[in-house]
Amino acid sequence: MSNWNIFALLYVHYVRWRRRGARIYALMGGPGAGKDTQAKLVAPLLKLPVVSTGDLCRREMELGTATGKMIEGFVKMGRLAPDEVIFQLLRNELSQPRYYRGFILNGFPRTVAQAKLLEALLGEWGNDLQAVFLLEVPLPDLKERLGMRRVCTNKSCNRSYHLKFSPPRMPNTCDDCGSPLYQRIDDTPEAIEKRLADYTELIKPLRHYYQQKGTLRVIESTNAFKPEDVAKVIIAHAATQA
Ligand code: ADP
Repeated sequence: MSNWNIFALLYVHYVRWRRRGARIYALMGGPGAGKDTQAKLVAPLLKLPVVSTGDLCRREMELGTATGKMIEGFVKMGRLAPDEVIFQLLRNELSQPRYYRGFILNGFPRTVAQAKLLEALLGEWGNDLQAVFLLEVPLPDLKERLGMRRVCTNKSCNRSYHLKFSPPRMPNTCDDCGSPLYQRIDDTPEAIEKRLADYTELIKPLRHYYQQKGTLRVIESTNAFKPEDVAKVIIAHAATQA
């Protein structure tokens, strides 16, 4: 074995050792189900960083990389980007030491193929997925949320508003940081229809997959519930997994 191979092997073991006991959760739910909002609420309580594949896509598009340009075509049409492309972005992001103690996945996996890629990756590290939280929101509620969603343009803030349910205090201005708000390129009526139709189809086998594994936790999250109450339910479930 060459010195280089020995070094690579030692490094793999070192990283596995650093990742031991990592707590890993996934937040799933349709477009507009409130994954970003819940991730923001539960992350500080679970003391874990959030990885959002939607944000990774938007970062890549903003940087104008070849991957970003490719992804943009899918996002604009309200379609999912190819599994392998998203998985590569995720894998690169998760290689950073700040994720060694664990993380909350937001928006990944969305297909059974992605779930299997994730399982293989966690297996390489000697980790397991503790729980998958599925935010269950009726379709009419999702439609109502998406069309009226506005998001803060400041990436480090990223706060989401709903023009009817949780409007900003000043029109088109973020309450937290004062930056202007924008409507996402995939929040057009056509893209919304496509995203909802895809989600309805893809969630069935994915739900079944995690049900079989015993890691699925379904969290009811209709428009009648306050986000803070939904977050409490997630935290209570996470506590039983710890
Ligand atoms: P939403 O959940 O509201 O659709 P996201 O911000 O999670 O929003 O994702 C925005 C877009 O980014 C998706 O419509 C899709 O094109 C792309 N994307 C994000 N996550 C994935 C994923 N896991 N697989 C494929 N495409 C993804």
